[in-house]
Amino acid sequence: MRKIAAITGGGQGIGRAIALAFAQEGYGVSIADIDMDAGLETVELLRPYTDDAMFMKLDVSNEEEVRHWIERTATELGGIDVLVNNAGIFHIADVLELTAEQFQRVISVNLSGAFLCSQAAARMMKLNGRGGSIINMASTRAFMSEPNTEAYSASKGGIAALTHAMAVSLGGYGIRVNAISPGWIEVREWQLSSRKEIVVHSETDLKQHPVGRVGKPEDIASACLYLSSEKAGFITGQNLTIDGGMSIKMIYEE
Ligand code: NAD
Repeated sequence: MRKIAAITGGGQGIGRAIALAFAQEGYGVSIADIDMDAGLETVELLRPYTDDAMFMKLDVSNEEEVRHWIERTATELGGIDVLVNNAGIFHIADVLELTAEQFQRVISVNLSGAFLCSQAAARMMKLNGRGGSIINMASTRAFMSEPNTEAYSASKGGIAALTHAMAVSLGGYGIRVNAISPGWIEVREWQLSSRKEIVVHSETDLKQHPVGRVGKPEDIASACLYLSSEKAGFITGQNLTIDGGMSIKMIYEE
């Protein structure tokens, strides 16, 4: 039976690469994104690989819209086997000026959104009775920060905790829950074709990474495929850092 993957924020960047990877692997793919043009463009890119591709415009922090998306996905594509909570917004603001409203919006999208999608998908996975895999997009910023990124870091730290909590609660239904913490992933060349840019990295940027390069969206997509596969059947509640070694490198002068 063809498996179904549901991906939030699949309109561009890492989410688009994840959608492509699952389609190329033979999955039916359901994309949700707040940006309709971007989501529809991704669905077109999936067409050579699957006829079972759909898009729904939604805000992941809206419970009703999320529930509707999961129900539509299950009805139109035949269930749901994988959920990737990839949608997220970055936020940087002087910590002394950051408003409660700004802080709350980042938490609503990045953390509450992942919870709402996971809850709706887990209910459907339980109903389908064939288990499932949920993958949450955290960040290296869950455990390291630059100044003035409190809302974003808090949301991603919350994602790491949500991951092990839901892994424990849902294990009995055959649902595994893992997180990925990407480091620096270059997404600009993956944006909508009209916005393509050439990206040049400085020597310092590259030296920060023991592997000698920054990340590509495909680096994250291939890990999503692995974590969703039977090969990862004994892995749950984990947070996989994918950053070319950036976070384990000590700073030194050459
Ligand atoms: P991106 O901005 O290129 O894409 C994010 C997508 O999410 C967009 O298509 C956007 O429209 C969608 N989105 C935003 N808010 C939404 C909402 N409320 N509801 C539905 N869709 C919404 O981002 P990206 O760089 O591809 O990042 C994807 C994920 O990976 C995010 O969770 C991000 O925090 C995380 N991440 C990215 C990096 C990186 O270096 N790019 C590093 C660490 C973590």
